[in-house]
Amino acid sequence: MIPSTPTTPTETTMAKYACPECGFTYDEQTGIPREGFPPGTPFSAVPDDWSCPDCGVRDKVDFELAESAA
Ligand SMILES: [Zn+2]
Repeated sequence: MIPSTPTTPTETTMAKYACPECGFTYDEQTGIPREGFPPGTPFSAVPDDWSCPDCGVRDKVDFELAESAA
C-alpha cells in the first residue's frame, strides 16, 4: 500500500500588502494583533474601512499586493 499523497498541514498562501503612502506592509502570516487581526488573518478578512495603522491616510483598498508566496 502506497499512501496517495502525504498530508500537508494547512498549506495556505500568505500574501503581503503594502501601503502606497508609507510603505507599511500587512503580512497575512503575522497579521496585526494590536489591530485585532491575529496571525493568519487573510487580507480579505480585513474590513474595507480599515485604514493604514502607520500613516492613517490610506485605506485597505489602496493597499497593493507586495509579495505572494507562489
Ligand atoms: Zn500607510
